[in-house]
Amino acid sequence: MSKWRFISEALEQRRDQGLYRQRLTLTSPQSCHVTIEGQEYLAFCNNDYLGLANDPRLIESARAAMERYGFGGGASHLVIGHLEPHHQLEQKLAEFTGRERALLFSTGYMANLGVISALAGRKDLVLQDKLNHASLLDAGTLSGARLLRYTHNDTAALEARLEDARDHRTLVVTDGVFSMDGDIASLDHIAPLCRRYDAMLMVDDAHGFGVLGPKGGGCAEVFGLGQSDLPLLVGTLGKAFGTAGAFVAGSEEMIEYIIQFARTYIYTTSMPPSVAAATCTSLDIVQEESWRRVHLQSLIQRFRQEARAMGYQLMASDTPIQPILVGETEKAMNLAAAMREQGILITAIRPPTVPVNTSRLRVTFSAAHQEQDLDQLLEVLHRCRGMVS
Ligand SMILES: *Cc1c(COP(=O)(O)O)cnc(C)c1O
Repeated sequence: MSKWRFISEALEQRRDQGLYRQRLTLTSPQSCHVTIEGQEYLAFCNNDYLGLANDPRLIESARAAMERYGFGGGASHLVIGHLEPHHQLEQKLAEFTGRERALLFSTGYMANLGVISALAGRKDLVLQDKLNHASLLDAGTLSGARLLRYTHNDTAALEARLEDARDHRTLVVTDGVFSMDGDIASLDHIAPLCRRYDAMLMVDDAHGFGVLGPKGGGCAEVFGLGQSDLPLLVGTLGKAFGTAGAFVAGSEEMIEYIIQFARTYIYTTSMPPSVAAATCTSLDIVQEESWRRVHLQSLIQRFRQEARAMGYQLMASDTPIQPILVGETEKAMNLAAAMREQGILITAIRPPTVPVNTSRLRVTFSAAHQEQDLDQLLEVLHRCRGMVS
């Protein structure tokens, strides 16, 4: 018998458990109205929180940059792939976040792998929230450091861990907004704790950046955390910013260190310069069009009020991530399927992404949703109410 039979067995097991994942292919742009196999759906499942993924101004900036700089980055940043639009975007991001410098990465996953494995090694400790994003947990493992997880957003548990680790160099890592629950890390407590214990704090604000704070500065803006309170701020550009890539912002020295030692920065091709140019435009829009955040909040609050009144179980979230907790995977799958038949697309999130018996419909809102889109969602939820207990 072949040693590789586990491949077909693992696939079969996934199917039997109802956990097999399949992709949908969009034949339209990413937006809250998408087309799949000729059918149009109203979608509540992308991360395009500000509705910028298909904004004509981003497309125009990308087009202009392509004409000037061509398409491919052509090399890694340290060889000859660092083009003017990359540099301009880094300067704009540093200014926007109030940090000395910002450094672009090709994806958020790579930013997290690169930063954590550059800063922590075999003798160090990495403390992570239990619900942190997979890329952060993977980064902890890759670093070779001792990886310990603390109870979700539990600052007393974090303090106990820090107390135990007094003799170690410790990196504390948390999502800013938790990607499957939508709640916000208690950075008002976590940042002072890290300072007291001389631990280094890193926040991955993939879902907060652009969305939270009056100017869209994310968790750092909400809690007023400057560079010395929060030395490692990671933001991603594929969500609220509507483009692709990520950055880490921090002190001059910290960024120089990451450039020299982060392998996922050094050994990869730079993003296409047109993506950086489009992101510069996106950053202007994020700052100027605060109505997007105001509209988003009003959709969120109305959804919460009305869905709760119908008896759906929501989670403690004021962000665009508004999961409907269902529990059993099969029920969550059935609810998602029934809604899809009625023209509404929402993904069911199930193990192993979330713990067993906490399967959920991960509803996400975008500033591109209109009030009548929300009316339609609520109407369908009302009709499907009997499918969850
Ligand atoms: C989406 C996400 C990432 C990954 O970012 P990409 O740019 O999509 O690779 C990292 N961290 C968190 C919390 C995320 O939600």
